[in-house]
Amino acid sequence: MLWDVDGTVVDASDGILRRLKIALEHFGKPAPTRAELVHWIGPPMFESFQKNVSMTPAEATEAVAYYRVIGKADGYTTGAKLYPGIAELIADLDAAGIPQATASSKPEIQVSALMEYFDLAPHLQAIAGATPDEKTLASKADIVAEALRRLRAAGADTSRPVLIGDRHHDVEGGAAHGVPVIFVRWGFSWPHESEGAAAAVETTAELRALLLLDEE
Ligand SMILES: [Mg+2]
Repeated sequence: MLWDVDGTVVDASDGILRRLKIALEHFGKPAPTRAELVHWIGPPMFESFQKNVSMTPAEATEAVAYYRVIGKADGYTTGAKLYPGIAELIADLDAAGIPQATASSKPEIQVSALMEYFDLAPHLQAIAGATPDEKTLASKADIVAEALRRLRAAGADTSRPVLIGDRHHDVEGGAAHGVPVIFVRWGFSWPHESEGAAAAVETTAELRALLLLDEE
């Protein structure tokens, strides 16, 4: 079981949006509205700075670095919340013997900090995220491959993987490795983004029913 983090397990949007606004203002880009900005959450920031506000790759590199500096100063867990029912579900899946890992486009150091902070790390066999430059290991497909590799290295059976995610790049990243995606609608997607997912759920109760079939 692979978990996307932002928008799926953790809602860190308050801090992310605050930092994005500061970074965009710093680089003289008009800050989009909050409603637009939430859709930045999930895909690699290096891509979003280029795609959403027309930065060159060099400018985007600088913007990501600046954004990361503010993030470090803020603290990686400040203002972050778990979505209701998620911690219990991850603990119960662990108790049911299902190996789990993160597969996040967030820098791995931040993913680790969040998983420790919310006490989820003991339930995970691997924590995979992006490299700090968001380039060496950045695309969801690369991170999915790395998460599966680490699960296998930890002795887990990865013959029937599933990725839980909230954005189109989760669906695409999973598809690149034949990993079906369960799309969660409580994150930061536009409505059409679940296209191509194996299933879509509105609530953690629905997700639980899909994942732990022997319960209800
Ligand atoms: Mg996400």
